[in-house]
Amino acid sequence: MAKVTKISRPKLSKTDEVYLIGIFKGTLVTLKHAFKSVFGKSRGADSLNSSGLGVTMQYPEEKWDDELPEYYRGAPALVTDEQDRERCVSCQLCEFICPPKAIKIIPGEIPEGDEWEKVEKRPQEFDIDMIRCIYCGLCEEVCPEQAIYLRKDYAITGTSREEMVHNKQKLYEIGGKRVGLVNKWNELK
Ligand code: SF4
Ligand code: SF4
Repeated sequence: MAKVTKISRPKLSKTDEVYLIGIFKGTLVTLKHAFKSVFGKSRGADSLNSSGLGVTMQYPEEKWDDELPEYYRGAPALVTDEQDRERCVSCQLCEFICPPKAIKIIPGEIPEGDEWEKVEKRPQEFDIDMIRCIYCGLCEEVCPEQAIYLRKDYAITGTSREEMVHNKQKLYEIGGKRVGLVNKWNELK
């Protein structure tokens, strides 16, 4: 029989129960950021100053593009290698791991006689629903072929739900190329 381990929950003190300290701390953080932006000390303030207002960014003429941090996670997209070959092998790991089930893949077989027959599969269809996507980056983490990346695109718009589903062609348009080793193209493997 499996061993059952009981974990006792820590008891909340009276102060914790009324959340007063939490509310106070949260208000301090909000005020700190409010003052910083009013006095032009927030991150990206120099770029904002060029708007003439110093606080408000004049979007879309001005954008955050140059201020986005390295780790920023935007729209997921597919990439090809430097020879325009699809890196994706339709393993469907990203589809499986995606928490909101935003990815739908229909795998296609690489026909016999094709130079890359040994790779076996490539996606016939690959859709990502950008309304469902929560930009968590798990698809990028799990991909064994470095075929899917979260780009820094954040202006993801459409006039209908259908438009917000990016198909394979659109995903490659956004993704572009990535150079570097791709195991499946290695002749020795
Ligand atoms: S970023 Fe997260 S939610 Fe979006 S497609 Fe990838 S795994 Fe799914
Ligand atoms: S993008 Fe990566 S994880 Fe997703 S199906 Fe293609 S190879 Fe597999």
